Amino acid sequence: MSISILFSLVIYKGITLEVERSLRIQQFRLYRETHPFDFLSPDRISVDTQLLDDVEGRIVLTLLFINLGIWVISGAAGYFLAGRTLRPIQQMVEDQNRFITDASHELRTPLTSLKSEIEIYLRGKNHTKEETEQLLKSNLEEVDNLQILSDNLLQLTHDQQSFNGKVSLEKIHLEKIITEAARKIKPIAAKKNIFIENNVKEYSISGDENSLEQLFIIFLDNAVKYSPNNTKITVNMEHIDHSVLVTIADQGIGIAKKDIPHIFERFYRADISRTKQKESGYGLGLSIAKKIVELHDGAINVKSTLGKGTTFTIQFTKLG
Ligand code: ADP
Repeated sequence: MSISILFSLVIYKGITLEVERSLRIQQFRLYRETHPFDFLSPDRISVDTQLLDDVEGRIVLTLLFINLGIWVISGAAGYFLAGRTLRPIQQMVEDQNRFITDASHELRTPLTSLKSEIEIYLRGKNHTKEETEQLLKSNLEEVDNLQILSDNLLQLTHDQQSFNGKVSLEKIHLEKIITEAARKIKPIAAKKNIFIENNVKEYSISGDENSLEQLFIIFLDNAVKYSPNNTKITVNMEHIDHSVLVTIADQGIGIAKKDIPHIFERFYRADISRTKQKESGYGLGLSIAKKIVELHDGAINVKSTLGKGTTFTIQFTKLG
């Protein structure tokens, strides 16, 4: 605004001086035509002040309109650009608020259950040893749940930091990472008599070791959680074009078509009634998985048939 005012002042001064000079020359020519032998200096010729005032008035008016136009246009452009710049920040703040609300909501459930169990216990008297044991066991379960939730929340923050470029990527042998993840999941799978067939090959990618192990643990853990007893989970690897594809296929309950677009959202759990409630987690696993895969410039694809099973395909393009 001040620049346009400054320019206007300069333009005004320049134009008025020029107009005055032209009027003086014009008057001087007229004077010379009527008085050819009078050698008067042009500076001594008086100009028509009425005309000069008129011209100055018009210049001021024009400059005022131009300035007004510039202010309106720059104001509108500023408003539009500020809106565009602020939108991602606004989105991030909304996202964070939603995350805090969801996380608090999830934390409240085990805490309420823990609190009410202890309160009921304290109201009673002469508890038997078995009753006390039962209460402590149940409390421990809730504490375990809270621990899983806080671990998941921490993992999400860690992945966000990695996502912001704070973790350095190194050469990772996928077969080692997947075998290690499968080794960790095998005891849980064994409880349901689920066999993990591991057909890994020696492919390497560029990535973060801990995040990648976490990624395969999430998929294998889900495959076990959402599969009935005596089934099989198959892990395969393929090298296609310039990418490595890892597929994890189970023979579990499957995911309904309507749920597939949402399963990667934080705290989303598909129809709990289809699963045993205690088996379902906090709906954070796949959102963590998605973050990790994004960190590795990869992609996840899901194919699922209700009652038959689910196949997750993870594509890595940053080969090591
Ligand atoms: P959760 O902790 O509930 O398992 P996830 O984010 O890992 O949360 O998964 C989100 C939802 O996607 C789960 O609640 C479940 O309904 C569904 N899901 C994930 N993996 C599988 C699978 N292999 N088979 C069937 N359903 C699955």
